[in-house]
Amino acid sequence: MARPVIAIVGRPNVGKSTIFNRIIGDKLAIVEDKPGVTRDRLYGRGEWLDQEFSIIDTGGIEIEGEDHILRSVRVQAELAIEEADVIIFMVDAKAGVTPADSEVAQILFRSQKPVVVAVNKVDNLQRADDIYEFYSMGFGEIVGISGAHGTGIGDLLEEVVKHFPDTVDEEYGEDVIRVALIGRPNVGKSSLVNAILGEERVIVSDMAGTTRDAIDTPFEKDGQKYVIIDTAGMRKRGKVYENTEKYSVMRAMKAIERADVVLVVIDGEVGIIEQDKHVAGYAHEAGKAAVFVVNKWDVVEKDEKTMHQFEQKIRDHFLFMTYAPVVFLSAKTKQRLHKLLPVVNTVSEAHAMRIPTHVLNDVVSDAVAINPPPTDKGRRMRINYATQVAVKPPTIIFFVNDPELMHFSYQRYLDNKIRAAFGFEGTPLRLFTRRKS
Ligand code: GDP
Ligand code: GDP
Repeated sequence: MARPVIAIVGRPNVGKSTIFNRIIGDKLAIVEDKPGVTRDRLYGRGEWLDQEFSIIDTGGIEIEGEDHILRSVRVQAELAIEEADVIIFMVDAKAGVTPADSEVAQILFRSQKPVVVAVNKVDNLQRADDIYEFYSMGFGEIVGISGAHGTGIGDLLEEVVKHFPDTVDEEYGEDVIRVALIGRPNVGKSSLVNAILGEERVIVSDMAGTTRDAIDTPFEKDGQKYVIIDTAGMRKRGKVYENTEKYSVMRAMKAIERADVVLVVIDGEVGIIEQDKHVAGYAHEAGKAAVFVVNKWDVVEKDEKTMHQFEQKIRDHFLFMTYAPVVFLSAKTKQRLHKLLPVVNTVSEAHAMRIPTHVLNDVVSDAVAINPPPTDKGRRMRINYATQVAVKPPTIIFFVNDPELMHFSYQRYLDNKIRAAFGFEGTPLRLFTRRKS
């Protein structure tokens, strides 16, 4: 299910990243191995009263040169308008309304997107009155908060959640595989989309959906329906900032959220670079099925070992995504292109796979019998049973005598055993432990 996206916008130093970090908190406490996932976060997930959402800190975008603050906030505001369902517009109670604030206000106002103004740095009661000045910007909903003390954030989220759309996940039927292509600029995403659509027996449908779907491309091949999400997001508009890493990562966020399967496109000619890792990490965290697509395979000089070596490099770089299969192809010559959609089908099935509880428990009991949990200070974890509680991604809860006793390495062992038994190729698994004796 696509989670609604919140974007935080505001000029530098109002406290965006402070609030962002407070909102995402330790939500990623999913016990999972994630070396290499970027620390310098622009994007995270949170929840408020059982409402899950994704949140973007647009403060990562900075444009150099004259008027850089005004230009940066303008770009941030435009990005937020395009990508977010609700915008938190953050200002600083101590500073009052500044020209950069007014600039952002005007852009947001015209967009008609829901905006909630967060007046930060309301650290004490004296300053509570400072929020009234901000009503002059024209937005009705204003909440005073303090990143320093962590106050008001619940009230803020309560306002924000009110504006979430009701039908985020009902754009396409369950029989349609939603595919997003991500990757840094110039790896060949647009070429690949065109190549797929130009393939034999691909029927590009004009079942243009409702509102924003004009930028999605639905098609059908061999009886399977697909939609390539957010194709417009890949169109280059030639502005300098659009080639910056942070911008392209944020642009990909909404597409990732709306997808079932994410194709992480890598330039086979250039090889893997750090930026590829960040992009892939977001797909992983979003819990999407993933396929590595090594493009431009036509220009790679190769012998019979090249593919294997390249795959090994991918495994070394993306330790957190060993589940994702790798496809080598050329969008330009269409060499090996026919391999792609069958893999997309496979990972999509794995992503939606449901394992009956008794079958899962047989596998877990066998795993425990072969290799019992280690003892910790004389105590041993006992797994009473396991059950899969969700799909997309498959999510399994282990009910145990004491969750503290579930060690990371043992969890990884169980993860491996479950994968060995059921496949789950191309999908992350979420494993949780709960107390039940
Ligand atoms: P950003 O540039 O908008 O992301 O702002 P930061 O989150 O980096 O915060 C800028 C500065 O404001 C930092 O020094 C923060 O410690 C400080 N700050 C953030 N929230 C508060 C707050 O509620 N009260 C006060 N007094 N300072 C804050
Ligand atoms: P995007 O920015 O990721 O959408 O990348 P584009 O699709 O615009 O491609 C960037 C450049 O790579 C263009 O010059 C393409 O012609 C070229 N390109 C894309 N796919 C291939 C490929 O399979 N082989 C070769 N040799 N070049 C490619």
